[in-house]
Amino acid sequence: MDKFIYLDNAATTRTAPEVVNAMIPYFSEHYGNASSIYRLGTESKRAIMQSREVIAKSLNADPLEIYFTAGGTEADNWALIAAAESGEGRGRHIITSKIEHHAVLHTCQYLEKRGYEITYIDVDEKGIIRLEDLKKAVRKDTILISVMFANNEIGTIQPIKQIGEIAKENGILFHTDAVQAYGHLAIDVEELNIDLLSASGHKLYGPKGIGFLYIRKGVKIRSFIHGGAQERKRRAGTENVPGIAGLGMAAKLAFSQMEERAGKIQKLRDYLIERIGNEIPYCRLNGDRERRLPNNVNFSFQFIEGESLLIMLDMKGICASSGSACTSGSLDPSHVLLAIGLPHEIAHGSLRLTLSEENTIEELDETVEAIKEAVGKLRQMSPLYEDFIKKQNKI
Ligand SMILES: *Cc1c(COP(=O)(O)O)cnc(C)c1O
Repeated sequence: MDKFIYLDNAATTRTAPEVVNAMIPYFSEHYGNASSIYRLGTESKRAIMQSREVIAKSLNADPLEIYFTAGGTEADNWALIAAAESGEGRGRHIITSKIEHHAVLHTCQYLEKRGYEITYIDVDEKGIIRLEDLKKAVRKDTILISVMFANNEIGTIQPIKQIGEIAKENGILFHTDAVQAYGHLAIDVEELNIDLLSASGHKLYGPKGIGFLYIRKGVKIRSFIHGGAQERKRRAGTENVPGIAGLGMAAKLAFSQMEERAGKIQKLRDYLIERIGNEIPYCRLNGDRERRLPNNVNFSFQFIEGESLLIMLDMKGICASSGSACTSGSLDPSHVLLAIGLPHEIAHGSLRLTLSEENTIEELDETVEAIKEAVGKLRQMSPLYEDFIKKQNKI
């Protein structure tokens, strides 16, 4: 295959060339350990400091509130497990939503086995939590609220400011998994009352295996990885200097051109939503039309299997997703699509297309034609569709 149409940017993004260039020196000439005293080491230390500053500034945070991790999953695990353990004196109750990423949901299940109580609040048909539900779920022994900034499958953006207010009023820590939002939406941790925030490099054109956890100053949260004194003794292990330098560059690029980039991508998104919605019968757009990530398109097509559609698109070099990458391979429909109330058979016929600014209208046209053809073919083979058409013709 010589050419791909890449429409799976929520799974991962192509590392920007500027990011790769920013990383290379820390593999080659500046390979020193950042903890060393000599100049070779201090060059690494300086690179880490610089990235920490860029990231802190992007969130309206202090550099000492940024802790580098090996990605979004680690940051989520750390935030939840350490907040739970650190809050033990006050209670063992945590509130989260039903549509979190598995990095949060499976960590919650782990905590449940260790005697913590978790309330999983519902979302409405667009995938947004109801603030009333959140208020009702709050108890005297609630120690943490963890609600994602924006959903990786349907792109829905949560009312983060209001959630932060509820957490603050009740003296509860607020964690948000901002992996899909960071670098794509403006985030101010002060204005939004966020205490803990997870992000990941490879979702914003940065490298894989690097991310960070923002921990508000004064928040008592245990270290997660024990060992050396790196990351103020809270996350031990020799720093991934090339990764950190790359993440810093990715953040710098993202925040210097955020509005312009988002505007461009959003136009492509709206074009795709319009064309699919108008030209393919028996489909529905999942998620909120307005409160939505600029790059997210998610449709369900009746009478087809999303997996079959993916394979047919792949034969044309189109990379898309039927749910989140982590759940493909399992036969259960996406927990997010079930949580917004889709019946199993509709959830099974879903397709997620997530864009970058590198996509072109021509690529999207080609994709729409490919989806039309594939959906048509799959419906021809579907006994359900046949029955449906027969019934329609009788009326
Ligand atoms: C990708 C993703 C993660 C996991 O991040 P990794 O860096 O891949 O471990 C967590 N949460 C959300 C919402 C994601 O999209």
